Amino acid sequence: MTAAALRVPTRPARLGMLGGGQLGRMFVHAAQRLGHHVTVLDHDPASPAAAAADAHVRGAYDDERALAALAQACDAVSTEFENVPASALRWLAEHGCRVAPGADAVAVCQHRLREKELFERAGVPCAAHARIASDADCADARVGPLLPGILKTATLGYDGKGQVAVGTRAELAGAFTALHGAECVLEKRLALAGELSVIIARGPAGDVVHLPVQANVHRCGILAVTEVPAPGLVPAVADAAVAHARRLAEALGYVGVLCVEFFLLADGSLVANEMAPRPHNSGHYSIDACDVSQFELQVRTMLDLPLVPPRQHSFAVMLNLLGDLWLDGRSGAAAEPDWAGPLRLPGVHLHLYGKHEARRGRKMGHLTVTAATAAAARDVANEAARRLGLPLLPT
Ligand code: ADP
Ligand code: MG
Repeated sequence: MTAAALRVPTRPARLGMLGGGQLGRMFVHAAQRLGHHVTVLDHDPASPAAAAADAHVRGAYDDERALAALAQACDAVSTEFENVPASALRWLAEHGCRVAPGADAVAVCQHRLREKELFERAGVPCAAHARIASDADCADARVGPLLPGILKTATLGYDGKGQVAVGTRAELAGAFTALHGAECVLEKRLALAGELSVIIARGPAGDVVHLPVQANVHRCGILAVTEVPAPGLVPAVADAAVAHARRLAEALGYVGVLCVEFFLLADGSLVANEMAPRPHNSGHYSIDACDVSQFELQVRTMLDLPLVPPRQHSFAVMLNLLGDLWLDGRSGAAAEPDWAGPLRLPGVHLHLYGKHEARRGRKMGHLTVTAATAAAARDVANEAARRLGLPLLPT
């Protein structure tokens, strides 16, 4: 090799990630595989994403010194955490960073009422709901038809946090007080035949690709299982989910990866639940079961690289691994699960996020089973669940 050839420079892009959790970590892996550098902004010295990243700016999302350091280190910035203040993205955009998704789109996804307004504006069905921001709202006539319902804080909820099931007006008033009078939305509780989600990626020129529609099972408000392809999903419903997500992204002028969660009702109709302006837990299977993962899509949208439709090459079942798995049910003592059990099974891909502390309900890792048939993926996932002491898949 000649000296000249040795001097050919690589041109890594300088990417920034607001948020240092597992989604950021998997983004870092995808970006680095493509040869790019990533700087993570997160206050936590033990951030899972920062442990993998090229650089870590420690600070709060509203700390201008931290944002300035990120802007200095990066050409393009994205977010992995839903509650990064939109103002941080706005600040970065004003200071020379390409930001995807944009602050305005993120602000809509962060606020359940704005989100529902968008659903209605874009012609995407959503659950009947009302704004609850005062004790008088709890007594309002509009509330009657929404009971039994679910009261959700308009902002800052995730993994079922900030939500209370309410059956009566008295329970509603009590729940509103328990949520410290925060602005809320009361949603009618729907009888769900299932839950679906779809992840799309939209580039700066408006080109859109999507991952296959995912079937999700939640336990206690937290995603537990994702299965893809969604069993029994008729193509018309899958197409409708993709079309809805596309319309929402277009209405937002969205650039980046967007996940839309849907409720499936018994009559086969879809009701949009919520959006995430980033890769999503229900898309983790794409790392192992698709030729382009949701995280690579995020990298591509940030850098305006070509978006090709991802192809799913294996049937997949993803199991979330929550902190409960580390904790003894009775004593609360913490111990590492025995990974050798599931790892002995074919097609098991174990992902651990490097979190130092296990807490109940905390997402510590996930496991994706890939297989050549849906039945094989389910069988292996059930066996892995059994070996770990997790509940089996619903039939
Ligand atoms: P989070 O931001 O915590 O994910 P969601 O609004 O998605 O909050 O609610 C979490 C889960 O609670 C949903 O995936 C679903 O299982 C259940 N849920 C939420 N809203 C409703 C509803 N209106 N009717 C029935 N189930 C609901
Ligand atoms: Mg949700």
